[in-house]
Amino acid sequence: MKKPIASLSLDLDNKWSYMKTHGDRGWETFPSYLDVVVPRLLEFLKARHLTITFFIVGQDAALDKNRDMLAAIAPAGHEIANHSFRHEPWLHLYSEREVDTELANAEEHIERVTGQRPIGFRGPGFSLSHEVLRTLVRRGYLYDASTFPTFLGPLARAYYFMTTKLNSEQMEQRKLLFGSFREGLRPIRPYKWQVDGQKLLEIPVTTMPIFRVPIHLSYVLYLSMITPALALRYARFAFALCRLTKSPPSILLHPLDFLGSEDAQELSFFPGMKFPRAKKLEVVSDALDLLSGQFTILTVQQHARHISQMSTLQSVDPRFETLCQPNA
Ligand SMILES: [Zn+2]
Repeated sequence: MKKPIASLSLDLDNKWSYMKTHGDRGWETFPSYLDVVVPRLLEFLKARHLTITFFIVGQDAALDKNRDMLAAIAPAGHEIANHSFRHEPWLHLYSEREVDTELANAEEHIERVTGQRPIGFRGPGFSLSHEVLRTLVRRGYLYDASTFPTFLGPLARAYYFMTTKLNSEQMEQRKLLFGSFREGLRPIRPYKWQVDGQKLLEIPVTTMPIFRVPIHLSYVLYLSMITPALALRYARFAFALCRLTKSPPSILLHPLDFLGSEDAQELSFFPGMKFPRAKKLEVVSDALDLLSGQFTILTVQQHARHISQMSTLQSVDPRFETLCQPNA
């Protein structure tokens, strides 16, 4: 029997972007681990015959020191997509003009270095707004992948804030980091945004059908700190539910899934970053074997093109949290 489809992507968040969101000093010199993690990722994916989508941060592409690493990704068959220029999870506070500059800058540097012009976008920290959707449509994007339909966002944010020393202004900017409770009400299956009479495909980062809890690999790794067997049972159950409910999973990876405590000491505040690398890679490998055993794994762009043929695709009007005032 033909396997149903799934997609796999990786947000190529760099060391500096984690430090920046966390409010740690020193991010301004853009410390990078791309020289370590990119070759490791490419080798890992090649060994498993996987081609995936890399969401790349424009600022990294603008720096000479990352050029060779980023240039190696597209020739290995992977899709290159846009993960903003400055990686600010408060992108939803930008005016439309600021969003346009942000996306255009990222596109320019990403295309120059990788040779691919992105037609897919994921907002940093899953930040999204009507302005972002409008800009994506105007700039000719095929899809957005910035929604994360879970009720657990506020919980993840509270846990994260406990590890930071942010001032009140920084806290305000990060007020919607990982999304509000209402994010859990968004669809899990792909759909079409209706943006001022035009359409844009949305490929949500899949959460567990019915339960709406995260199933991306960083979360599975977090569970594996309790017991690896539990983590894999969780992943197996989640993938089975996706098949049962006919929800094609779009699964998300992060560089930290491929880095251990020995690789990035500064990031030990992250769940799972106290773990040795070999142990993490084993869990990631087992979970991806489970996924590829049940699904045909595509890039997010291939996933988007595949579903765009479907006549049953739901149309959704953009509605966003209005807690925050736009930037003055
Ligand atoms: Zn990111």
